[in-house]
Amino acid sequence: MAKTGESCRGLVLRSTDVSENDKLLTLLTAEYGKITVSAKGARSLKSRYMPVSQQFAYGEYTFSSKNGYKWLVDASLTESFFSLRSDLVRLALACYVVSVTEQLALDDQPDNDLLRLTLNTLYMLCEGKRSINHIKSVFELAAVSCGGFTPEVDFCGNCSVENGLSYLDTVGGVCLCSNCAARLFPEGVPVSVLPVDLTVLEAIRFITSPVSKNVFSFRLPDEYERELSHISEAYLLAQLDCGFKTLSFYHEVSDQ
Ligand SMILES: [Zn+2]
Repeated sequence: MAKTGESCRGLVLRSTDVSENDKLLTLLTAEYGKITVSAKGARSLKSRYMPVSQQFAYGEYTFSSKNGYKWLVDASLTESFFSLRSDLVRLALACYVVSVTEQLALDDQPDNDLLRLTLNTLYMLCEGKRSINHIKSVFELAAVSCGGFTPEVDFCGNCSVENGLSYLDTVGGVCLCSNCAARLFPEGVPVSVLPVDLTVLEAIRFITSPVSKNVFSFRLPDEYERELSHISEAYLLAQLDCGFKTLSFYHEVSDQ
């Protein structure tokens, strides 16, 4: 028996053409985590599913399911994030954002925090009130934290002192004090261990703290923003241990 009428709020992370008429949607939902839903006829301009089947569409999706296969039976659009498409750099970053989210999201496991973060990031990209580097860094660090890869940034991962923290080990996910870094790496720190300024460390603490409500709300001077940007990307790639074609494309078009 097919189950009918399961509804959820969902964001289209990926929209794949599967035939002349249909699309396969990868949705991130608060209720079911990551799910794949077939949207029959959605490639037709006349289809009522066309607007809700675009990448970045956010709305209410109702689907039926049978033997693990899900198909749309109703949908309504809340937000299309259409203005992203007017700026190539912001669009490229949005594509990277949803590909990271897709990588982190788990099938059939509710994840409201990751959905809220991804939506907030897309809203920030549309509004343009913060620099693109700022939005990217905050998303990267907050997203890996949602995924359970929060860095330990309150004390040295080797000797536990709280003062003199000078490095972030992007692979180990811990900070190191300058004494430990000198002792552990007498020949010089490896490329995966990055120097970190105290101001940047404070920003990382704020972004990755579970009690921070609006993680985008702080401001950093330009030189610190650049350092944070370098660290956040290196940390995400080291922790997820994979690359993203969307990130390469973002770098190609953004000169960052
Ligand atoms: Zn130490």
